[in-house]
Amino acid sequence: IIEARGVELAFGRTPALRGADLAVRAGEILAVMGPSGSGKSTLLHCLAGILVPQAGEIHFDGRRVDTLGENGRSALRRDRFGFVFQFGQLVPELTAEENVALPLLLAGTRREPALRAARAWFERLGLDGLERRRSGELSGGQAQRVALARGLVARPRVLFADEPTGSLDSLTGEQVMDLLVGSARAEGTTVVVVTHEARVAAYADREVIVRDGKVTSLVHP
Ligand code: ATP
Ligand code: MG
Repeated sequence: IIEARGVELAFGRTPALRGADLAVRAGEILAVMGPSGSGKSTLLHCLAGILVPQAGEIHFDGRRVDTLGENGRSALRRDRFGFVFQFGQLVPELTAEENVALPLLLAGTRREPALRAARAWFERLGLDGLERRRSGELSGGQAQRVALARGLVARPRVLFADEPTGSLDSLTGEQVMDLLVGSARAEGTTVVVVTHEARVAAYADREVIVRDGKVTSLVHP
């Protein structure tokens, strides 16, 4: 469903990706592992059309992504992709349900139907009663579940997650991963999850390792 070929990207003189190749299959849950600074987040951002590589190609559903302009890439992100990051992603002044509804509101859904669709996720993710809570007043695990609901509310083809359990204790992290993987499987969503934790990677169908800006090894379970 997504393919990266020979992707290179440097931040100034710091190379982050140096010829990364990766194919993500439709419906799979793929874990991206590797040491700190190896280029995992940069690769995720390239796959998701957030960053544009300086060399190489990115394809989604057979369509070239990296040659689209900013408008084309942001439409793709809005219409096809969902995102869950480690922290700092919820708008603290908005309520939890408003945060979840944001992707729908940005896509032009009216407020009431967007909030209704958002609320449907609360029970599913064990968040009942927190709909109207300001998201700045949630615990870490609750905030990550709200972020997960927001990543899935627009029914994306691909969910990109960067260290989605990175700031959580291990039990809470497992709950978030159970919900992430369970929801993705139920919806047939493809997932690309960047993680340091072998425990998190154990939820994936397949793992790849990023080392020195290349996707160097594949581990087949
Ligand atoms: P971590 O596991 O610590 O999150 P990572 O594998 O996700 O690391 P990246 O964030 O992709 O690594 O970074 C790859 C390289 O690019 C590193 O050398 C990093 O310092 C550099 N880098 C990343 N983002 C930027 C940026 N915005 N400006 C400058 N350099 C950056
Ligand atoms: Mg990173």
